[in-house]
Amino acid sequence: MKCVLVICDGLGDRPIEDLGGKTPLEAANKPNLDYLASVGINGMMHPIGPGITPGSDTSHLSIFGYDPYTYYTGRGPFEALGMGLPLGYEDIAFRGNFATVEEKDGDLIVLDRRAGRRFDEGDELARSLDGIELDSHADVEVRIEHSVEHRCAVILKGPHLSHKVTDTDPHTPRQPLRPCQPISEDEAARRTAEIVNLLTSKSNAVLSAHEASSRRKEMGLPVANAILLRGAGVRPRLPSLKERYGLRAACMAGAALYAGVAASVGMDLLNVEGATGTVEVDTLAVGMTAVEALTDYDFVFVHIKGADSAGHDGDWEMKMRMVKKIDGMIGVFRDNLDLESTLLVVSADHSTPCEVGEHTGDPVPIVIAGPGVRTDDIEEFGERQCARGGLSVIRGLDLMPMLMNLSGRTEKFGS
Ligand code: ZN
Ligand code: ZN
Repeated sequence: MKCVLVICDGLGDRPIEDLGGKTPLEAANKPNLDYLASVGINGMMHPIGPGITPGSDTSHLSIFGYDPYTYYTGRGPFEALGMGLPLGYEDIAFRGNFATVEEKDGDLIVLDRRAGRRFDEGDELARSLDGIELDSHADVEVRIEHSVEHRCAVILKGPHLSHKVTDTDPHTPRQPLRPCQPISEDEAARRTAEIVNLLTSKSNAVLSAHEASSRRKEMGLPVANAILLRGAGVRPRLPSLKERYGLRAACMAGAALYAGVAASVGMDLLNVEGATGTVEVDTLAVGMTAVEALTDYDFVFVHIKGADSAGHDGDWEMKMRMVKKIDGMIGVFRDNLDLESTLLVVSADHSTPCEVGEHTGDPVPIVIAGPGVRTDDIEEFGERQCARGGLSVIRGLDLMPMLMNLSGRTEKFGS
């Protein structure tokens, strides 16, 4: 039996007055999702646990069946893996921003955490820093690769390194770039913090002198003269879905972070034209690619980002438009998947209520449709409706065992 798991990032929401007290999902026109609810079993899911506000990375780990409290080792390695960078288990990976800083009384003050809205120099700046030598720590290799916009991945390779170090990113503008500090007693953490600080000052010098900086100055744009680092981590050692459940799994994700979590549990990353990770995503193309991928794979994970961005922006109209787009993709599944032999699951990794503008610990709606599913009498896919469904309330960690049960892949516990 095959399975398609669709995670709509940040889909869950709270009642909105302008929508007559409905959530954007409840208020949106979504005939295909409603159809799925009517033929499936519905419920609510706490992606990590009741009242826990999930990050997207910890939540996806949990939904894939890996307890994030055991396995989560920071966001940096997921970004790097999702970008397709080779990452050893001893390497330390960070997420990086090209940023604008100004020197003041010996501090580097962060004027802009992302060096302006317009930023096209990521590739050449990353190249100028990739492999940079850190004289006193010549045994450490520095890899820097541009991802999108102002973002990059930074990897340290070498002996005696630790991810137990603080961010240099102050996270709010007009604050000094923070010196990296060890957060554990050991020598490796102390040494890593020292290396990061050296990297900060060396990259500041290289970037300030870079030709792109003069060019940006001439154009009146903020100069990218520093990298801010955050999310230090090591690649987690996770048993793959193949080892655990015998699944050949593939992923289509809207951004590197989600692809990285999927890669870390052994999913192959499939590229889809139009899978932009923005509200512009071509959900119909993503849907067709997922259908085609089922020829080669048992399990296909589809991640759609836009609803989370709409929630962060407090834009419930946009969230409703995203629901419509997701509904279009479910329509592709309705037309092209045989629900007699395929499980189709739709849920979210957390709620991002428009009126909060941030992730919250509210549970998310979930529907499972396909063979062997005990249906209920829910006929609409929404927060309130799913709360009355036959699945009642589950945790993210429960999902994979439930899907394996439905697909006949579980073994009896006891005799
Ligand atoms: Zn998320
Ligand atoms: Zn978010």
